[in-house]
Parts: sequence; C-alpha cells; structure tokens
Amino acid sequence: MKYVYSFGDGKADGKTDMKNLLGGKGANLAEMNHLGIPVPPGFTLTTDVCTHYYNHNLIFPEELETQVVEALKNIETIMDSGFGDTENPLLVSVRSGARQSMPGMMETVLNVGLTTTTIPGLIEKTGNSRFVYDAYRRLIMMYADVVMEKATGIKLADGQGIRQKMERIIDTFKKENRLKDDTDLSAEQWKEISESFKVEIKNNLGSEFPDDPRDQLWGGIKAVFQSWNGNRAISYRRIENIPDEWGTAVNVQAMVFGNMGKNSATGVAFTRNPATGENHFYGEWLPNAQGEDVVAGLRTPNPLNEDTKTVDTQSLSSLESSMSALYSQLIEIRTNLEAHYRDMQDIEFTIQDGRLWMLQTRVGKRNGAAAIKMAVDMFNEGLIDKKTALLRVKPEQLDELLHPVMDTESEQNATILATGLPAGPGSATGRLVFTADDAEAWHGRGEQVILLREETSPEDVHGMHVAEAILTAKGGMTSHAALVARGWGKCCIVGCSDLHINLEQKEVQIGETVLKEGDWISMNGTTGKIYGGQLKLIPANPETHNEYKHLMAWADDARKLKIRTNAETPADAKQAIQFGAEGIGLCRTEHMFFDDTRIMAMRKMILAENPKERRSAVMELLPYQKNDFKGIFKAMKGFPVTIRLLDPPLHEFMTLTEPQVHDLANHVNLDKSEVEKRIANLHELNPMLGHRGCRLGIVYPEITEMQARAILEAATELTAEGVAVLPEIMIPLVGTATEFIHQETIVRDVAKKVMKEKGITLDYLVGTMIELPRACLTADEIAEKAEFFSFGTNDLTQTTYGFSRDDIGSFLPSYLDNKILSQDPFQSLDVKGVGKLLSMAVESGRKVNSNLKIGICGEHGGDPASIHFCKHNGLDYVSCSPFRVPIARLAAAQAELQIKASKV
Ligand code: PEP
Ligand code: MG
Repeated sequence: MKYVYSFGDGKADGKTDMKNLLGGKGANLAEMNHLGIPVPPGFTLTTDVCTHYYNHNLIFPEELETQVVEALKNIETIMDSGFGDTENPLLVSVRSGARQSMPGMMETVLNVGLTTTTIPGLIEKTGNSRFVYDAYRRLIMMYADVVMEKATGIKLADGQGIRQKMERIIDTFKKENRLKDDTDLSAEQWKEISESFKVEIKNNLGSEFPDDPRDQLWGGIKAVFQSWNGNRAISYRRIENIPDEWGTAVNVQAMVFGNMGKNSATGVAFTRNPATGENHFYGEWLPNAQGEDVVAGLRTPNPLNEDTKTVDTQSLSSLESSMSALYSQLIEIRTNLEAHYRDMQDIEFTIQDGRLWMLQTRVGKRNGAAAIKMAVDMFNEGLIDKKTALLRVKPEQLDELLHPVMDTESEQNATILATGLPAGPGSATGRLVFTADDAEAWHGRGEQVILLREETSPEDVHGMHVAEAILTAKGGMTSHAALVARGWGKCCIVGCSDLHINLEQKEVQIGETVLKEGDWISMNGTTGKIYGGQLKLIPANPETHNEYKHLMAWADDARKLKIRTNAETPADAKQAIQFGAEGIGLCRTEHMFFDDTRIMAMRKMILAENPKERRSAVMELLPYQKNDFKGIFKAMKGFPVTIRLLDPPLHEFMTLTEPQVHDLANHVNLDKSEVEKRIANLHELNPMLGHRGCRLGIVYPEITEMQARAILEAATELTAEGVAVLPEIMIPLVGTATEFIHQETIVRDVAKKVMKEKGITLDYLVGTMIELPRACLTADEIAEKAEFFSFGTNDLTQTTYGFSRDDIGSFLPSYLDNKILSQDPFQSLDVKGVGKLLSMAVESGRKVNSNLKIGICGEHGGDPASIHFCKHNGLDYVSCSPFRVPIARLAAAQAELQIKASKV
C-alpha cells in the first residue's frame, strides 16, 4: 500500500484530482510541480494514514516508516543536503492538509531537524548564526506547544500553557536587557533563551525537548495527525459539515526561509480580489519575515503592488517596486495558475535569498459578491462555461448580497469612532462582547452581538460564528478574522489600531470614548467605519448588482423547478416578487388575525357556545380577510396563490393576561369567570396533535365557509376589475381522504354560490397539505380528489420523528454531539425517513392523478440540499420565505444541472 507521495524538481507522484487522498495542499503541491512552478521538494502522508492511525489505537501502518525514509532521501537529493547531516543539514516543515481547507484549525511544526549537532553546520552554511538560533527557538516553542503539550493531552492551567510560559521568558529577558523588539536579540541571546526554554519544558511537561532529528520528525507527524481531533478542528468541522472520517494528510517539505536577510521575503496573495471579485492581483508581503508573521497580524504587511495601495499603506513599499523581477515571475505564476485551475487561487510564497518558492495554492475563499463577479467575469473571459459559472456560487452566498447596508442618513449623522480595514462587507449592529464564550452566551440569550478581539484565533470560531460582525484591533486583510469572516459572508473590520482593549474590565477605549460590554456599536464593513450606538440598517438591493442579475437570469434559464414564497402580507409578497418569486406557496391565514380588532372577533368566535353565535362572530372577520386576499392577489400579478385554511390549535389565540381576559369578557358580554372557564376548556395535553388543522374546519364548518367565501369573493371581484388571479385553496393537516373530501365539499359549494352571486366564473384549485405520515401512506386515495399536494415538511418531520418542532432545542445539541443526528432535520430534510415518505406520496399520488401539482412549503423549501431532493423527486415547485427566494432559484438551477450531469 502506498502511503507516501513524493514531489519536487518538476516531478510528483500525485496530482490535483487526488485531494481525497493527499488533501488539498498535498494535491496542489504535486500539481504545481507538473506545471513547472518552483515548489520546495517534499512528500505527503495520505489521509489513509490518518484513518489507519485512528482505527488502530494511534498506531501507524507498518510500511510507513520505510516509505518516509525513502521519500526523505528524495528531498535530500534534490536539496543536496542531509536530514541530520552535521555539515549540510536539511530542515523540514510538517503541516496538515485536509480535503477541504480548514484554515488554522490544525497544527504545524517548522524548522524540524535543528539539533545541537546540526546547528553548527547550518551556521557555517548560511553564515548567519542569529538566523539559526532564532529558527531554533521558534522550533522549540512550536514543538513544545504542539507536540509535547497539545498532542499528548497535557492540560496546563489557563494562561499557564508552555507557549505562554516561553513567551514570558522572552519578555522578561527583553526587559532585563532593555531590548524592545525580537529583532534586537543577538544569536547568543537566542541561544541562552533556548536553553531556558528546555529547562522550562522539562519542569512543566516532564520530558526533554528531543535532540534527534528523527524523533522531531515523527513527533511532528504524529502531532499533526493528532490535531485532526483537536477541539478547534472538531468545532470547525461541525460548523462546516465536514465528516470526521475524512481525516487529514500531512505534508513534509524542505524549509525555505523568508527571514534570511534583505533579499528574502514572504507573502500571501489572491489571484483576484476576494472581497470585490475584481480582476486585480491582490496580496500582502513582508520583507525578511516568516509566513506566520504575515498572518499573525503583528506587523502591518506591505501591499503586493502599486495599484492596490490604500491611504493606510501608501507609504509602504510594494513587492512590485522592491523586487520587480520576482514580482514579474509571480505574475507569470498567477496567470499560469488561473489558466490551469480556472478559478481564483489563494497562494503563499517565500523568497529565500532572491529565489521565489511557492508554498501553497488553493481555491481562494471569497465573499458572495466576489463569488458572483468572478463567476460571471470568468465566463466572459472564456475561462469557464455558463454551467461552471452557475455551479461556482454557493446558493447561501447570495445571502450576503441580501444583507443589510447602513442607512445613509443615519450614517451621515453618526460620529465615526474609528476606522479599520474593511475585511467583510455589509453592515451590522450589535452589543459589544469581548470573548468568544461571551458571544456565545449573549447570543444564547437572544442578544445580537459584535465580537471585539485584539485579533482572532481559531479558538474563537464558535463566538465568531454567532456574532453579527467581527472587529479586531490588529491584523490585515488576510488575517484569521478576515479570512474566516469572508468565508461566512460576515461583516468584519480588522486592524483598527485605535481600539485599546482592556480585557479584564471588558471595556475598550477609542479616543476619548470608553465602551463597555453590552454597549451597542454599528459597523460598516464595506468602508471600515465604526460607530457608537445602534444605527439604522436597510435591506440590501441585489438588483443593483449587475453580475448578480446576469447570474440569476442564467439560473432562471437553467431551472424548471418553480420558486414560490411563503407570505401573508402584500408587502412580503411584493418583496418576494422583486426577488423573483413565481407565486405564493403558503399563505398562513392565521397570521392575519393578530391585530387588535381582528383578534377580538377571533376570540369571540372561539368562545361562541353554538354554531349561530360562532357564525356571526366568524363573519365579522370576513371583510378583513377578503381585503387581505385582494392585496395579496394584486401583488402577485396573476401568479398562483396558495391560501391555507385555519391551521393552529385555537388556544394559540387565547394566551391572555388578566386585563385582557377582563376586556374580552366585556366585549363578549360574559362573566370573567365564564370566559376563564371556556379558555380552560380549550386546554389540550398535546395541542400539536390535538384540535388543529382540518379538524377545526370539520368541527366548525363555518370557519371553512367564511374563509372560502373571503378568498373567492376577493378573487371574483378582482376578476371583474380585470385583475388576473389564480387562487389555490389548501386544506391543512389532512390524514385521511375523508377529511379532505369533507372540507373540499364545503369549499366547492361556497365557490359555486359566490360565482353565481357575482356572475363570474373562475379557475381555482382545491388541494391539501401533506404533513402527516398517514397522508403520505394514503396519498393515492387523497389524490383522487385533491388537485395539488404541498408538503408541510415542518409537521411531517415532527410527526415522522415524533420530535416536537418547538422543543427540539433541549436535546438536539446532545444528538449532534453524540452523532445520533448529523444535522437538524428541521433545517435540512431527512432524506432517509421523511424523504422516503415524500417520494412515496409523490409516486402514488401521481399514479392516480398524473396532473397533480406538487410543491413543498415547509422551511426546507429554502434549503439548497432539500431543494435538490425535491427536484430529484419531480416536485413542481418549492416555496420559501421571501429572502430565501434568490437562494432557491440558484439552488434549483444547480440541482437541474447536477441531476442532468449524473444521468449522462
Ligand atoms: C409545515 O408543517 O411544514 C407547514 C408549512 O405548516 P406550518 O409550519 O404552518 O405548520
Ligand atoms: Mg404544518
């Protein structure tokens, strides 16, 4: 079995499509060799090694050692040096690399191979003892932290970790010797510090820092595999839905140094701007530095080229002007990579003593607006076809274009507290919190928060995820905060140096202003401006984004699945039409009863003692309903409108305070005690499975009559005015064909009467929600009468699992942690169970009625994976909330393309 894949000197065992085995980093390092791009030689230990390691009690496969030794020899030959050689030592890096990039979530060890016996050789070779001892102390720090502490599971107290202890040793040393920066320390001083480190390690971790290069190498390899199961990596996988079984690969590669003097440098770049999508080479670099210095945000990085300089970076020299020949080489590589991968790449490079090396290329993360622009631009440039362009944008990314922006007027009147780098566009407002844990806790209490940090680290991801926006005092556009926020399409401002954070007091000083935990701030992530207080946000208007319009037009051409919306007000209906909705899939009429006058009439109806009283109360609601329906029909411009008859258990209208009971008693002319008695009578032990849905209309047919009349009067009156209408009347929570027939008969009788009264004939449909397992199992019987089915997958999920949709929060986290469920079935359709019922119902329903119109109106109608499933099962439409409509349009197009491709 081959566990180790070598690369270097223009040759490689692997290639780009071997990501599952070699991880993204390993596969692309191999591919760059095939492309003739300079890459330090190395080798990749496959993800199979990781799987084996975890399946065999943390033991590596037997063949591994010999294969590693062989691969190491290959590096030695190419680099003309020896691992552990005392005269000409080779140093290597050990890095993780999973199938899907997990930035900063796993560990890295650099400078492996430096020992007391190889140090003199490297000093001789480089003529730079300061550089060598600096590299040595970095190795010790990383190794002790990653290999000796984290990977072994030793848990030192908070703030007492070995890395922090070593950092304190450096600080004390600098203070005692009156030195300011790390760069002020000499070779001798770093050597002295390294010795103190070793003592500290022995004292705290109980073992010696290894002085044998092979021990270091295997320690590093093990630790990186071990970090696949570190807390950070696990929580990132949960958020990103990355399966635990994938495992990571490990890359061992010859070290190249960007900190070897003034002819050395290091940088990161994107082949196009990841925040706007513009076709500009965009990046940051630092002369005489190591890669970690750029990402850590401790030094402000220089801009890569002249035309991406900003006011803040104007005075810093670009790579283009400082090392123009190397910059030209980098430009050539950029062109080469984009032409080959046909996508924007995120690259890392190092210049060692005037020679350029590429350390990484991968498909770059980008925000939604940029993803759309790049997809459309690349199609126009002839780099990709339309289908690829459509598949390039994740449907959820459209969300970012739909995110709020700041209201111009309120922004103009607000005072700017500070300005930072605009790392993630869009605007946000929230209450300040200072730690990721606090962000999570406040968010859990229903608060909207903004997470403020000095700089973020992968330990903060859980807090970043729940925050409305992220703000940091340090870091550049490629810092951790910027990358993570961009990936999620979150508003983010970084490198705002005017923020002086006092973590202990949980407050921040900005100029004269002091803000405390819980204070409101607002951020404009597009301009980098920060304001005190809660500014007004307005919804974004994606229609102003040209490339968005192109992409959505392509999506509409590519899809057949119709997209409707769930809406019960004309305003929502209009919004949905603007977003491209092609009808209403669910109008929940109960939502129309909640204003002061209507709720009184509703309550009067509920309290009625006999059909006559009830009919009279219910008829009070008719004019309101009719008016509402007219508004909605008009807004929908002739598109179909599915209106559902009353569905919820009646007690939902009857949660009353003392004074409300009093008012109601007056209104209905009853004793307060009588009202209380009747309310108590409504109590059900299990209302979700109680007197609700069509059971209401069956017991109180006057409700169905009133609603049917309101719908049909609205429709006929509008028809008379020349307005096109297409009503579809939907019976909720049907479990038997007889229930449906009972309600359908009432609706059709009313329809006949109304049409006769108005002298107008009208097309309308009567259909049903399919939201109970029994309805799925007897769909053929129901379809004999029903003209359409609409899957209510909220209730269908509830009744299939027997999970209360309102209470799942109490056990879902445990279910996810224990892998009993892989995702919340109320968010993404459970294909195996609920999906099976849905497929059965579609098949047996269409068997008896081939014209049966079928859609879905549960929350899943806006979830891309569920939309894919619906398309696959031959549904005619999905219906979702207005703001999900664009997402559903794109997801439907992608499903169409993917299903077509899978059939070829
Ligand atoms: C459903 O159950 O999926 C549905 C759409 O109806 P509601 O959420 O109103 O119960
Ligand atoms: Mg329902």
